[in-house]
Amino acid sequence: VIPRVCLTFDVDGPFLWLGTFGTRGLQGLSRGEYEVRVGLPRVLALLREKGVPATFFVPGRFAESYPELVREIAAGPHEVAAHGYNHERWSELPREAEAKVLDRSISALADCLGTRPRGFRAPAFDLNPWSIRLLVDAGFAYDSSLMGDDFTPYRPRLDDTPSDEGPLRFGDPAPMLEFPVSWELDDFPYFAHTGRNPGLRSAHEVGSLWFEEWEFARSVPEAVYTLTLHPQVIGRGPRIRMLGELIDRIRAGGPVTFSTLSQSLDAAGTLEQAAGDHRL
Ligand SMILES: [Zn+2]
Repeated sequence: VIPRVCLTFDVDGPFLWLGTFGTRGLQGLSRGEYEVRVGLPRVLALLREKGVPATFFVPGRFAESYPELVREIAAGPHEVAAHGYNHERWSELPREAEAKVLDRSISALADCLGTRPRGFRAPAFDLNPWSIRLLVDAGFAYDSSLMGDDFTPYRPRLDDTPSDEGPLRFGDPAPMLEFPVSWELDDFPYFAHTGRNPGLRSAHEVGSLWFEEWEFARSVPEAVYTLTLHPQVIGRGPRIRMLGELIDRIRAGGPVTFSTLSQSLDAAGTLEQAAGDHRL
């Protein structure tokens, strides 16, 4: 089976700063402005040049604020999927509130595009113990927020119970697929400078790390190599150039399929065939 590469872009705009970081100054708004004016157009141009489809995770409020931009993404070979409404601090949402936010994020994308998203990624990858059940109830076919494998999709479990003592309890596999993510394959910790994260690593160094991960991934049966990228981060000159070179290096090394996560899900056949064995 030909290994797959799924480039995923979290189109957070200013909502990462307003929601997750809770900032109210103009810096956060201007970092979102950079994404909309500079980063995202560069990302779309690169994908067009290379002929690569990608999955874009878009907060509902971004779709309400920049509907034309989201329709432009969806007009390409790309997939638009859900990423919260205001890029909330997901782990601080009580269950009832989370269900409402999820609804709102779906309807904002549906109003903008006329179709419901098939996939979800939690802002900052922060799912709650009950989130997988809410995602199944909301009709999602896949999630891409968890870290239980590196390159093998698996079925996330319903109602896993984090606890402070005694043997851990794990729930039953959910009728959906998980495309696992990792901080290693995310541009944010390497590059984005925030109060807590130094970031600002060299593009060359990070490109080498990501290519080393790929060299291992391609030997994994039915691998899906999922990169998590942010247009406001990866869009800077040396970084977008590095991403283009990474695509070329991956292609030069042998057969590979670049696809959206939704296409990977469809190619996987039944959930039972697709999933790595994660019964615990
Ligand atoms: Zn995000």
